[in-house]
Amino acid sequence: MGLALHCRYDRRKGIAPSPYPSLSLAEEGLTVGFSGGLCYDRKDAWQGLCRQDRSRGLIMDKLTRYSTEELKCPQCGKVHMVKRYAVVNVTEKPELKEQVLMNKLFVFHCDQCDLTAPLTYETVYVDSKKQLLIYLAPEKTSNVEKSLAEWQKLDFRHKRLVDNLNDLKEKILIADNLLDDRIVEFMKIEHLKQLENEMKDDNLLNILFDYQGTQYYLMVFFEKKGIGRIPVSQEYYRDVEHRYSHRMGKKIDKNFMEVDMRWAGDIMFDRN
Ligand SMILES: [Zn+2]
Repeated sequence: MGLALHCRYDRRKGIAPSPYPSLSLAEEGLTVGFSGGLCYDRKDAWQGLCRQDRSRGLIMDKLTRYSTEELKCPQCGKVHMVKRYAVVNVTEKPELKEQVLMNKLFVFHCDQCDLTAPLTYETVYVDSKKQLLIYLAPEKTSNVEKSLAEWQKLDFRHKRLVDNLNDLKEKILIADNLLDDRIVEFMKIEHLKQLENEMKDDNLLNILFDYQGTQYYLMVFFEKKGIGRIPVSQEYYRDVEHRYSHRMGKKIDKNFMEVDMRWAGDIMFDRN
């Protein structure tokens, strides 16, 4: 119960003190996608660019590239020209990282009807300095598998696979703090037990890492209560690290890992 005292909720949508406002938008079904068949007009140029880059080899692939594609507003039908990023390399273009975190890159805005919605599609986030490679794939298609196999060849220390923008942003924030996302997932599971009371009359939608200065937080997203913030200390992080590091295995996984609460739960509860 002591935990609830620290957990502040903000019912206002989209203006919570978090980098994750798109979650509430997504809840309302206002996501816009290039795929999904709704309003997608693939330009031949896009296909051509992909093929061209492949022939040049992987070094070329690591650089930022995008195509400009037509996207019809799902609300009013106005056609927009929208940049679609195949690769976002923040070592090459650091400003793109800020844009991702501030929901300015993967977002759709219609100047006619004022609709703003997260724009999720397959993309690769590259931070060479941090040795971080995050593959965002909303769906795991056979093309994604093929592409993953190609990216797998790159010698990056941290390779992660995520299926939504919030997870992508969370991985970036964790790396910014030089923390291990696997430890963060263990921290979340440990807090689940303490959130049981709050979950009796409300649905817990997600838990995401956030920070302010040197203070870490776990943001909890409830359906009715809204967004809450649980402070977690650096000492606690180190304690969790100490307790679980031997179970995670010392070896570095060369493949893309899906590190989420299920991953941590499997280890914590010895599930296969
Ligand atoms: Zn519109």
